[in-house]
Amino acid sequence: MKFDTDILIVGGGLNGTVLALALAQVGFESIILDTLPVDKRKHAAFDGRSYAVALSSQRMLSTLGVWDVVRNKSQPILDITVSDGKPAEGASPYFVHFDHCEIEEGPMGHMIEDRFLRRILLDKLAATDCVTHMAEAKVAHHEVDMAGATVRLADGRVLRGRILVGCDGRQSAVAQRSGIRRTGWQYSQSSLVCAVEHELPHQGSAHQLFMPAGPMAILPLPGNRSSIVWTERTKQANVINGLSSAEYLACLRPCFGEFLGDVRLAGKRFIYPLGLSLAQSFIADRVALVGDAAHGIHPLAGQGLNLGLRDIAALAEVLVQAARRGQDIGSLTTLQSYQQWRRFDVALLAAATDGINRIFSNNNLLMRGMRNLALGVVNDKPSVRRTMIRQAAGLTGDLPRLMQGRAI
Ligand SMILES: Cc1cc2nc3c(=O)[nH]c(=O)nc-3n(C[C@H](O)[C@H](O)[C@H](O)COP(=O)(O)OP(=O)(O)OC[C@H]3O[C@@H](n4cnc5c(N)ncnc54)[C@H](O)[C@@H]3O)c2cc1C
Repeated sequence: MKFDTDILIVGGGLNGTVLALALAQVGFESIILDTLPVDKRKHAAFDGRSYAVALSSQRMLSTLGVWDVVRNKSQPILDITVSDGKPAEGASPYFVHFDHCEIEEGPMGHMIEDRFLRRILLDKLAATDCVTHMAEAKVAHHEVDMAGATVRLADGRVLRGRILVGCDGRQSAVAQRSGIRRTGWQYSQSSLVCAVEHELPHQGSAHQLFMPAGPMAILPLPGNRSSIVWTERTKQANVINGLSSAEYLACLRPCFGEFLGDVRLAGKRFIYPLGLSLAQSFIADRVALVGDAAHGIHPLAGQGLNLGLRDIAALAEVLVQAARRGQDIGSLTTLQSYQQWRRFDVALLAAATDGINRIFSNNNLLMRGMRNLALGVVNDKPSVRRTMIRQAAGLTGDLPRLMQGRAI
C-alpha cells in the first residue's frame, strides 16, 4: 500500500503547524493542508489575539526551536490580579493576587501576539524537511481503511497517509465525517479584542476583572501596551464593535479604569463569539483530533491554545513510542492511549471555565457576596494560590516530555 506521507494534518492554524513541527522532530513525515493562502495567514491583521502561553507550553516551543525566535516579542506575566467589578465602579476590594515569585520555576507564562507567533511558525514550517505544507488546499472528503486514511481535496487531488489528524477547528469536518458528535453551547457572549497603548507601565501585571456581562482581561504586552479581551453580551458587543474608535474607547474606559493613565487604541479591533464545543471522542479509526477540533473552551483562563499544545505533545509522544516498538501508529490501541492521556485535563478545564463564567458573569447580589468571600479566602491561602499558579503555568498532571522541555 503506497502512502504519500505518514501523517495527514487537516488545518494549518496554530495547532496544526506546531503538530507538524513536533512530528518532524521525531522523524515523522507529514502533509499539512489548509484552505487559506499563507500570505493571508501571515498578515499582521489576520488575527488580533494575543496568547497567554503557559510556562510548560513555552518549554515545548523552546524544544521545537520556536521560542528563541519569538522570545524578544514576548512579555513575561509577573503577576495576575483577579477581582469582581462593575463598569464605572471598577474592582471590588476583594481580589486574588498571584505573584510569579510564589513558584520557583519563574514567570507562569508569557504574552505573545498572534501576528508574531503565527508568522514564525509558518516560516519554521517552510524550513522543515519532513513537512509538506499545502496552502489553498481545502479537504472536501476523507475515508479510512484498515491501513490508512485518504483525503480528497476540493480540487480533486487525492492524498494518502497512515493516519489523519483533524486540526480543523471548532467546526471540525474531520470529526463530523468520522461520526464524532459534539457537546456544547453558545455563551451569548462575545469577546471584543484589541491592543491598547497606555501612559503608565504595566509592570508585567495581568488583570482579570469579572463584570456582570463577562470578564475583562488586561494582559501585558511589550512596551506600554496591553491586549484587551473584553467580554460582553453578544448583542451589546456587536453594537460596540460597530462604533467609531473614539466611541469604542469611551465604552472601554469605564471598564478599564484609570490605573494605567490615558489609553488609546493600538491597531485593529476584533470580535470573537464565544461557545463551548467538546468532541465526544478525540479519536476514531485512523483519526485523532487536536486543539479546537477536539475542544473549544471559554477564553477566560487563556488556556485554549495551551490545551491544544498539550494534545500535540501527548499525541507526538504516543505515536513515536508506538513506532519505536514497531507497532502500527494508527491502531486503535495507540490512539486510545492518546485519548486517555488527554480526556481528564480537557474535561476539567472545560468544566472549570464554564463554571467560573456562570458564577461570575451576573449581577446577583447573593452571588456577588459569595464570590467576594471566595476571592478573599483564596487570597489568604498561599498553598491554594501556589497550586492555582502551577495549574495556570501548566506544571501539574502527567506532563508529556515536550511540556517538560525534553525532546521525545
Ligand atoms: C478571544 C480569545 C482569546 C484567546 N486567548 C487565548 C490565550 O490567551 N491563551 C490560549 O492558550 N488560548 C487562547 N485562546 C484560544 C486559542 O485562540 C485557540 O484555542 C486556538 O487558536 C485554536 O487553534 P486551532 O489551530 O486548533 O484552530 P483554528 O485556529 O480554528 O484553525 C483551524 C484551521 O483549519 C483550517 N481548516 C478548516 N477546515 C478545513 C478544511 N476543510 N480543509 C483545510 N483546512 C481547513 C482553517 O483554515 C484554520 O486555519 C483564545 C481564544 C479566543 C476566542
